Amino acid sequence: MLRVAEHVARTDTGHQRASNEDSHLERTPVFVVADGMGGAQAGEVASRLAVSHFADGLPGEEADGSERRLAQAVREANAEIHALSEADARRAGMGTTLTAAYVGRGQVSFAHVGDSRAYRMRDAQLERITEDHSLVEELLRQGRLTEEEAEEHPQRSIITRALGPEPDVEVDTFTVAAADGDVYLLCSDGLTSMVADATVADIMRAAPDITTAADRLVAAALEAGGRDNVTVVLFRIEEVAGVDDPHPTEALTLPGELPAEPPATTADAAPSDENAAEPEAVPAAIADANAPPARRIIARAARSHRRAPRMPRPGSRRRPRRLRRRLAIGGAIVVVLGAIAIGTLLAAQAVYFIGTDSNGQVTVFNGLPYTLPGGVRLYTQYFVSGITVAELSPLERHRLFNNQLRSQQSATRLVSQLELDQIAGQ
Ligand code: CA
Repeated sequence: MLRVAEHVARTDTGHQRASNEDSHLERTPVFVVADGMGGAQAGEVASRLAVSHFADGLPGEEADGSERRLAQAVREANAEIHALSEADARRAGMGTTLTAAYVGRGQVSFAHVGDSRAYRMRDAQLERITEDHSLVEELLRQGRLTEEEAEEHPQRSIITRALGPEPDVEVDTFTVAAADGDVYLLCSDGLTSMVADATVADIMRAAPDITTAADRLVAAALEAGGRDNVTVVLFRIEEVAGVDDPHPTEALTLPGELPAEPPATTADAAPSDENAAEPEAVPAAIADANAPPARRIIARAARSHRRAPRMPRPGSRRRPRRLRRRLAIGGAIVVVLGAIAIGTLLAAQAVYFIGTDSNGQVTVFNGLPYTLPGGVRLYTQYFVSGITVAELSPLERHRLFNNQLRSQQSATRLVSQLELDQIAGQ
């Protein structure tokens, strides 16, 4: 049978960031990397929360299948991160990537959101098995960028999917057949933005074991500049002959030579597996203060937190009748005005318009483009794009800044398309 022979994780803050917003977990049979964003008090919280949802194994029953259970854990993590970002202004807009692997019987299942990655080394060949949910990779898929342009692209850290920004999240899940000698690598973009895939492959091939490989991968990212937090999790699968233990366990054997193995492809989806978790490590999470935001999420939901308006309290029964009547009339007026105010707020909440922020960045606003006497604004900033007004043609300005009310989807799509066009033109 196949089992996890050994695993290792390494993380480093890097040379340029004040804190490490990556989190990871290595607890056979579950392995996770999460790369948080949103700055101090936010990114590290988001990634740590995401990882914590895997610390006690997967939710649901074995019969549900690993992919479904992985996706459920991701959705639960997303809901918790989203709720926290809505409830706490300091954490508004926080999010995290997540790449998780679950080693089942003869196969490995994955759940993936964002631009952390999973790779598999088999027969000395390294293959990436996740797709980045990033603007640049979207452009690549559309054929609007070449691989070389994508690798060097200044805006490759913009991601299009993450845990946290929205109440729901779309999760990629898939399963690959495992083989004796497979080494799987999960990593944050702090590795892959600094070290080319070919170099990652060279390092893994040359290392005598996965612990050395992990150390050398992190060292390579740091040597290349260490501009971001870097995290790697590696685990190696081995065949143990004559053992029919359904639980994957640890072995202290050193990695043997890479054997030629039965055919297994990335696309081999197999829904069933039945390995129970064998807890033996603790989730790692790294926290400190004042981190600059690592990256942006398109269509980030930076809604302001609103309190429900207070309803007038009914007057005391001991008061004289006339006063009671006045209070009742006053109360009715307050209720009507309150209803109108709530109606206006709800209507304003559903509409969006495009403008600029104080730095001249094209910005999507939630609400109505008006300010009431006394400086009460009927709008809040929803998300700031990477485009400045100066970069727009007169026609584009006319098209965007006409105070037209739009749906959230229409407004964010329009601005995202502008970003795509701008990136493609660079
Ligand atoms: Ca990162």
